[in-house]
Amino acid sequence: MRVALLGPPGCGKGTQGEIVCKQLAIPHISSGDLLRQAARSGSELGLAANEYMERGQLVPDELVIGLIKDRVAQQDCEAGFLLDGFPRNREQAEKLAKGLVGDGLDRVVAIEVSEPALVARLGGRRTCKGCGRLYHVRWNPPKIEGRCDACGAELYTRDDDREATIRERLEVYRQRTEPLMDFYAQMGLLRRVDGEAAPAEVSKGVLAALDGRND
Ligand SMILES: [Zn+2]
Repeated sequence: MRVALLGPPGCGKGTQGEIVCKQLAIPHISSGDLLRQAARSGSELGLAANEYMERGQLVPDELVIGLIKDRVAQQDCEAGFLLDGFPRNREQAEKLAKGLVGDGLDRVVAIEVSEPALVARLGGRRTCKGCGRLYHVRWNPPKIEGRCDACGAELYTRDDDREATIRERLEVYRQRTEPLMDFYAQMGLLRRVDGEAAPAEVSKGVLAALDGRND
């Protein structure tokens, strides 16, 4: 099953993506992780992408599309995969529909969360400098303040997670990504899930949305 999760920054796509992928035994492909890996690898494409990310700007489509294309061509994606953070705009969605991944997507699930809830969630987010693991000062704090449970490295607030940047990201999302809801609704692929419920409930909603894939 080829699935894309849509939703604004902070809606819980990453967490839900991991849960759903475990259940369905398919790879979780996060465009953010792919970009960060590429940046760390020091490749030309990675360094170019990193400059945009450090400014809190969107990475150009051609860079992202190139990375996704390489990733979904790998063998572990044959039985399906879940895309998290891609497509992000109309151009990417059209490329995806036109054979970037075989016959395109089987289902698109939108996780919906209001703006005030998103700002509260994102503002408390901390990221591990070592392994990239995410924490939240209120809902998922590390055992030792400022240190990663998994690898012991220092936690920091990504530029992405500062309030002014959060507002900008939400605005970009509204302008560029939200219109994809209509695009996928017209193709009959879209299912909406309430992302403000408890995480376990959201997971149930997402899995139910995928289960009814032939409806
Ligand atoms: Zn860590």
